[in-house]
Amino acid sequence: MLTHDIIIIGGGLAGMRAALEASKEVDTAVISKSHPLRSHSGAAQGGIAAVLDGWAEKIGDSLESHIYDTVKGSDYLGDQDAIEILCREAPGDIRSMDKMGAIFSRTEEGVIAQRDFGGHSYARTCYAADKTGHILLQTLYEQMMKNRVKVYSEWHVVSLIIHDNICRGVVAYDMAGGKLQVIRARAVLLATGGYGRAFSITSNAHANTGDGLALAYRAGVPLQDMEFVQFHPTGLYKHGILITEGSRGEGGYLVNKNGERFMERYAPSKMELASRDVVSRAIQTEIDEGRGIDGYIHLDLRHLGKELIMERLAQIHDIALSFANVDCVHEPIPIQPTAHYSMGGIPTDINGRVLGVSGLFAAGECACVSVHGANRLGGNSLLEAIVFGRRAGISAVRYVKKAAIGGVSSRTLDSIEHEFYGLAEMDGSESVADIKNDLQTVMTGKCGIFRDSRKLAEAVKETRILRERFNNIGISDRGMIFNTEMMEALELRNLLDFSEVIAASALAREESRGAHYRTDHPERDDAGWLKHTLAYRSETGPLLEYKPVTITSYKPERRMY
Ligand SMILES: Cc1cc2nc3c(=O)[nH]c(=O)nc-3n(C[C@H](O)[C@H](O)[C@H](O)COP(=O)(O)OP(=O)(O)OC[C@H]3O[C@@H](n4cnc5c(N)ncnc54)[C@H](O)[C@@H]3O)c2cc1C
Repeated sequence: MLTHDIIIIGGGLAGMRAALEASKEVDTAVISKSHPLRSHSGAAQGGIAAVLDGWAEKIGDSLESHIYDTVKGSDYLGDQDAIEILCREAPGDIRSMDKMGAIFSRTEEGVIAQRDFGGHSYARTCYAADKTGHILLQTLYEQMMKNRVKVYSEWHVVSLIIHDNICRGVVAYDMAGGKLQVIRARAVLLATGGYGRAFSITSNAHANTGDGLALAYRAGVPLQDMEFVQFHPTGLYKHGILITEGSRGEGGYLVNKNGERFMERYAPSKMELASRDVVSRAIQTEIDEGRGIDGYIHLDLRHLGKELIMERLAQIHDIALSFANVDCVHEPIPIQPTAHYSMGGIPTDINGRVLGVSGLFAAGECACVSVHGANRLGGNSLLEAIVFGRRAGISAVRYVKKAAIGGVSSRTLDSIEHEFYGLAEMDGSESVADIKNDLQTVMTGKCGIFRDSRKLAEAVKETRILRERFNNIGISDRGMIFNTEMMEALELRNLLDFSEVIAASALAREESRGAHYRTDHPERDDAGWLKHTLAYRSETGPLLEYKPVTITSYKPERRMY
């Protein structure tokens, strides 16, 4: 049986940053269902936030301001102890990525350049043109190879092995080998990224199906704050492909069909650079009230000029041209909000330890520390992946130094195998693709930007019906080597499991906070709802409990931009 000290599930920024740290001291392996360099982190365009010495003093920025902006952006639901760590450790992590060879864009004086981003009071987002995630991912991969981390690429984890509340390893589908593999470990770290694919319009990669959340949930771990789904304001119309916030950071305008910069009416001081929840709602309102253009509005970059666009937003230029046949040097880009980021996830402490299970850690987008609360600021997610990936790696090492390799009972393995091969042999009449489409329609229509109790109650009911339909799917490919049909079924099962949690948590929360907007409860209600949701799995659907928010310095106040 394969054995490692630490297994990390996920080869994105969080997973690789953790692997880099862990591999300095113990035997570390990364499992990834796609090659690590294909992880969604590589699609991040805009940048990574940090207050850097030298530049910060020049523009009046400070660590306190980054902390405050993040707390305010989170609509006071972020845990302030975790936010302080995120912002305080940011400069050190940026400098170390720089030293590892990440080629950040620079000013003429040669220091790391920083741009404006939504919800941040100062220009503090470091970037590598509009390919920041790609550059960071490449850099970490090189370092991970240098440390000889074992990578199981194109292995799809289907189950955690947990006995007596201790995580002892994982079971994965080795796609090229065509069989299930058991890997034992002293500790397992989940870094499986986000779940945008539960929605029909999304900026996320096809692989972003929230597998880690479902693995943890099925193993008895609660999911935290799942009602908070971020819709990014500027997805390319119909495709959802992201047009980075950096395009507004560089000075782009949002314009309705009358040529009006409508953000004046919604966020007069921050305009296009108000936080994402505010801008997304404004865009959707313009579209819903008939001031859009055929279901979209315009992002206008023309006044920035060709030189700036080609230097700093070349990828955006390329995306708009390739997918919408729009040359943004001469024409505005058609955009609509797109499902982008999961604020909620697997609850962890500030060292990545998962609530309630020993030997299980989580970091990056699948985890909920919670630094983003009800709404994440741009640039803070790559940062979270790096800072908390590193911290989780360190704390997993500390744990494995004292932990033995636990036994894995054959009964547990038999039941995982039985379930997996049972799925492979299903021959019902339902199609995986149809159920997935129906789920995405329900989630977009009923759990989207504007919610109310009627739509949410329907979403809860309909996600349950879809789960029942899943029990009657048919898999036609009977081979086990690279059975992509099987993979899609596994992913759909995951999407179904946590989508019900999103709907149920959103239905229960009778207030509006950050990205969760209830038209029937439009105000934030601190007396009733300044608390985190924890959803536990049960036979009858998610059971909801709540836990307090950690508040250190910043008392909740009204959020204005
Ligand atoms: C288009 C786009 C642009 C963005 N731009 C920015 C930005 O400019 N700034 C910013 O701060 N944030 C940005 N974000 C958000 C940010 O990129 C992500 O939150 C962050 O990169 C997530 O990193 P991660 O390591 O947690 O997950 P990912 O990079 O998504 O990696 C997940 C890994 O888990 C693996 N995996 C998943 N399930 C399984 C399984 N069952 N078995 C085995 N392996 C599995 C995958 O193969 C992958 O390697 C952007 C996001 C998108 C979608």
